[in-house]
Amino acid sequence: MTQYIYGLCDMQSFYASCEVAARERYAAIREEFDDRTDPPLVVAGDPARRSGIILAATPTAKHAGVKNAMRLGEALQLHPALIVVRPHMHFYLQVSVRIQELMRRIFPLQEQFSVDEGFFAFPAGSALFPHPEEVARSLQARIWDQFRIRSRIGLGPNKWIAKMTNAQAKKTSGGIVWWPEGRVLQELHPLPVEAMWGLKRRAQILRVEFQASTIGDVAAIPIGRLRARFGVWGEIIYRWSHGEDFSGIHPESYDAPHKGFSHRTTLARDYYERDQIAVVMLELLDEVCYRLRKAHQCGRHIGVGVTYERMIGGFFKAKTLSYYTNAPEDLYEALLALFDQHWDGRGVRAVCIAVDQLRTEDTMQLNLFADVPKRKQLYAVLDELHERYGETSVMRAVSLTPAGQLRDRSHKIGGHFA
Ligand SMILES: [Mg+2]
Repeated sequence: MTQYIYGLCDMQSFYASCEVAARERYAAIREEFDDRTDPPLVVAGDPARRSGIILAATPTAKHAGVKNAMRLGEALQLHPALIVVRPHMHFYLQVSVRIQELMRRIFPLQEQFSVDEGFFAFPAGSALFPHPEEVARSLQARIWDQFRIRSRIGLGPNKWIAKMTNAQAKKTSGGIVWWPEGRVLQELHPLPVEAMWGLKRRAQILRVEFQASTIGDVAAIPIGRLRARFGVWGEIIYRWSHGEDFSGIHPESYDAPHKGFSHRTTLARDYYERDQIAVVMLELLDEVCYRLRKAHQCGRHIGVGVTYERMIGGFFKAKTLSYYTNAPEDLYEALLALFDQHWDGRGVRAVCIAVDQLRTEDTMQLNLFADVPKRKQLYAVLDELHERYGETSVMRAVSLTPAGQLRDRSHKIGGHFA
């Protein structure tokens, strides 16, 4: 069986690099292996307002202390000569697509992971790919030559290790790190537990409850204890800590995004009160937004549909918003307005909420909401509770009112009471 080597290629300061690369006047001063030759440029939500948020910054700007999600006013205090440009998301997406195409032409297996990251895999020791580090270097050089964007590449025997080596590559001058299979554990085990990619809060639990300070400490925990504490995640943590990961490359996973998400419920009786119908709509919207977040999508086309009493008649109305989002509070009012506009007061027996015209979450226009990073954290916590303890673990207070469907629905399996 041919062994594959997995790689993860990540663009450095992607949005800011796209902007710098698009300006001819910087071409002569920029050097591939010295990222401080870039101008101090930031991409910010609304350059006209000092309250805009930094979406991306070149390494030169970051060196002055500028960080993503920082307010523009604060960034300008740190570096008064900052070059501020507004985001051109469509342009970044075009560059992203072209870079992924380049990778797809080179490697037998390739999967887009985010707007500026892609996994790939190639057979080890084959004629076309004899030396992994040279393969990585040639990809890096092609991306620089063709797009003037620097990239960092991690290589290893599986996808998770590629994620780990990619993180190491960001701290390495050449931007390439390869852990051959036989060296994985000696490289992995001395790293702090927080370095385990994908664990988030679970890393803290490992440190506090299991006294694990390194990944090697995690590897020494019996799998049964991990299972007891983390459920299915226990197995994953065990596997990763031993340098194993069986996930494959799925070339279609980014190419075929969902067309849209919708959720529908048939009520146990007819609802006549507008406020009660509004509660049901909010519950459905929460579920749709939860699925959007899981799929890293946000949408801007929203619809509400109702079926009237005796399941006769009804409407489905939709509208397009000026922004993409996956947060219910951004969508709820518009949905209610749509409902109010079209509801004729008849009893409502079924309600449906839909969100489509999707984009990947990376393109979400952060500038619209000053607190998006904080809100994203909040939803990450809520979604995790939702997954671990069921959807009734965290409910909006309105769901506890008689109109709320959520408690009823959670006892049903596939729409039927269990
Ligand atoms: Mg990046």
